[in-house]
Amino acid sequence: MIFHYNEFVMSLKEERGRFLMAYRAVNPYNGELIKEFPAATDAEVEQALTAAKAFYQQAKQQPLEQRAKQLAALANEFTQKTDYYAKFLTTNMGKLINDARGEVQKTAAFANYYVEHGAAALADQDYTAIAGRKAHLEFSSIGAIVAVEPWNFPYTQVMRVFAPNFILGNPVILKHASIVPECAQAFEDACQAAGLPAGAFKNLFATYDQVNRMISDPRVQGVALTGSEKAGERIAAEAGHNLKKSTMELGGTDVCIVLNDADLKKAVAGAVNGRLRNSGQVCTSAKRYLVQSGIYDEFLAAIKEEFAKYQPGDPLDEKTTLAPLSSKSAQQNLQTQIKAVLAGGAKVLWGDPTPVTGPGAFFMPLIITGMTYDNPMYDHELFGPVAQIYQVEDESQIVELANHSNYGLGGAIYSEDLDKARQLASKIETGQIAVNQPLSSLPELPFGGIKKSGYGRELSDLGIREFANIKTVLG
Ligand code: NAP
Repeated sequence: MIFHYNEFVMSLKEERGRFLMAYRAVNPYNGELIKEFPAATDAEVEQALTAAKAFYQQAKQQPLEQRAKQLAALANEFTQKTDYYAKFLTTNMGKLINDARGEVQKTAAFANYYVEHGAAALADQDYTAIAGRKAHLEFSSIGAIVAVEPWNFPYTQVMRVFAPNFILGNPVILKHASIVPECAQAFEDACQAAGLPAGAFKNLFATYDQVNRMISDPRVQGVALTGSEKAGERIAAEAGHNLKKSTMELGGTDVCIVLNDADLKKAVAGAVNGRLRNSGQVCTSAKRYLVQSGIYDEFLAAIKEEFAKYQPGDPLDEKTTLAPLSSKSAQQNLQTQIKAVLAGGAKVLWGDPTPVTGPGAFFMPLIITGMTYDNPMYDHELFGPVAQIYQVEDESQIVELANHSNYGLGGAIYSEDLDKARQLASKIETGQIAVNQPLSSLPELPFGGIKKSGYGRELSDLGIREFANIKTVLG
């Protein structure tokens, strides 16, 4: 049913995406068309590849410190003009204006992390465990990287790929989500304003076919995708077919585990923020609350109270607490998914599932109960302000439920017994997990998933090595 619907939407998207890509910025608050951008021509794709190759060759001759200075200038550009860059996030995908400012600041922080720590992460590494001989590893650039990025964090997602690769000497060609073209353009404009060398970064309003052709081009040596599982299947297959390195940052159905001995206030704050931030459109959102019986009633009452405080409005208005979803199609997709969730036997425990009408892409928060393994939507990512709640008894039930997922991105555990929480954390099958706080991406820490949440790591010292030639030198 819903599965077929999603397949149908994907096939329409693919048909459209293959040839006639429409990059349109439409304000999801009022449905107004802001600006349309023409799709890239094949000549522009070729120019981008030529310029990328020239940058790759030139960067090999130049010290890393020079690029670190240029990257610092880019961070500074974002910091100095926070309000200017933030506005595109709000008007293109609906992010609350204060959160948009926060994203711009975080974009600068991701860049500055690699300004300060990039060189150390790429320093030669001695290997001493061979008798009587010497060896070391060196880390160097490999060529252009194609970055295919989503709309939910339009700047930070791009910087996560760009900053480490720029320091390394790999040029980056961006294919951004078609609904955030002004953000994609703004990132390129920021690079130019900061004086980055030609070819280091290029945004292309590319079709899916052009993306595939770039992946097959010898000047491109890697592809980084952040997006849905379906996009991951397509891009990873294309990379595999061409024997190109890829990283996949995909979706998730993260758990928020609340044990009997949790600090209720902390758990509620983390669970609500973890689910409703960005209107619930975060890969590591707390999508499934697993709450132990002893604290369940109190937790649920407090969650309902907090959810009720979220009020929809213009995301440019500082007082608004609930932003619209990113687009009308995101709204319709989630409405269809919720219908299928309920038809599959789950129930609305709190909230009104009646579809919101009007030009805005609003979706009112819901708390869902009674989700069972045989619900056709059980293992689907609900990308919006919808929390599922499960009452659980003991640790074995928690571990079984948490790991009963094709995804394995992140999660959070709330308990005042830190040893117990950490032991439980080790048993959860995900790439990352937080204790007594919602999971968030920090530049110092590796970020990524397992299972259908993808592979590879972004950020930290691991992120800068994903697309490096890790060369062993013996002697
Ligand atoms: P999406 O529909 O998969 O799109 C992501 C990007 O992939 C867009 O630029 C899209 O372009 C492009 N794309 C899709 N199919 C393609 C194909 N066959 N060939 C070339 N490009 C293709 O995902 P989304 O709706 O934008 O983003 C939400 C998803 O991203 C969620 O599943 C979320 O969990 C995940 N996400 C994961 C992370 C993480 O770090 N793990 C972080 C953020 C988001 P168009 O827009 O032109 O279709």
